[in-house]
Amino acid sequence: MKNIAILGSTGSIGSQAVEIIRDHPDKFRAVALAAGKNIERLESQIRALSPRLVAVSDELSAGQLRRQCSDLRNLEILTGEEGLKAVAVFPDSDVVLSSIVGAAGLEATLAAVQIGKFVGLANKESLVAAGALMVRSARESGATILPVDSEHSAIYQCLEGRRPAEIRRVILTASGGALRRRPIEELASVSPQEALNHPNWAMGPKITVDSATLMNKGLEVIEARWLFDLPASKIAVVVHPQSIVHSLVEFVDGTLLAQLSRPDMKAPIGYALGYPERLENMVRTLDLVTVGTLTFEAPSMER
Ligand code: NDP
Repeated sequence: MKNIAILGSTGSIGSQAVEIIRDHPDKFRAVALAAGKNIERLESQIRALSPRLVAVSDELSAGQLRRQCSDLRNLEILTGEEGLKAVAVFPDSDVVLSSIVGAAGLEATLAAVQIGKFVGLANKESLVAAGALMVRSARESGATILPVDSEHSAIYQCLEGRRPAEIRRVILTASGGALRRRPIEELASVSPQEALNHPNWAMGPKITVDSATLMNKGLEVIEARWLFDLPASKIAVVVHPQSIVHSLVEFVDGTLLAQLSRPDMKAPIGYALGYPERLENMVRTLDLVTVGTLTFEAPSMER
């Protein structure tokens, strides 16, 4: 049985992690949850999972949650950065899933790394903002940082058991996002709604817009630089609109290893929660004959 703490349990990644925990009561127990302001969703997660500690971003949300959960004994409710950190360093957790969006996740994630936790990292922003500090802290404390981002999870899976000296480069795939086919002269007038209409992935709003602008791939290159200790010259990006090949590693012998599945974040989330065990049936099997064609193209630097 693994005890799980989730930073950002009410978000897209966090909610899928909660579903995995609910579906595997013999394997996982949620001991601590942190969220921002979505009190309705957090309350239903609390009633389903009975964590001992929850944290919300502000006193107003905490007051509302305390009223709604006044019948629950043994539930501690904290707020703000202190609350987030308490969830991150909760003594009984075996895995901390870091899935807050943006720099708000940085300090709590770092706190978990500094005390040597096993961290499933979706919050790429903490590596973008503080990669050197995060990696040094993990080395000093013995923490494991296992990526949840699908591309980095794919690379992690392709690299298992391989020596860094055997890597020639890693290749991150990019779907191209919602605006891949829009003529370049129309890009200045795209509406938020159009940018949020991702063809393959259902994700939170920030990362979906970052996918449409390809800024997300820039963040992922930086994330890969720190996770795999590679210089930028060894990190390539290729556009792969089907989002089936999640990324690849090219080895010094000239061969490539890739990881494939349907585009469903349950696969990398389940991989991180279950590691080193693979959980059964995280995604429906991929039928390559039905998929038929996989295509790859160079990203347009002009766009
Ligand atoms: P969402 O916007 O769906 O969820 C964000 C979560 O963070 C919510 O639980 C939100 O709480 C919480 N949150 C935001 N600000 C605070 C705060 N100040 N204090 C406490 N909690 C806060 O984001 P996603 O799940 O899409 O993304 C999360 C991370 O995972 C991002 O770093 C993203 O880049 C990465 N990622 C996401 C993928 C996806 O498929 N969604 C794929 C790969 C990476 P509330 O809603 O209660 O306010």
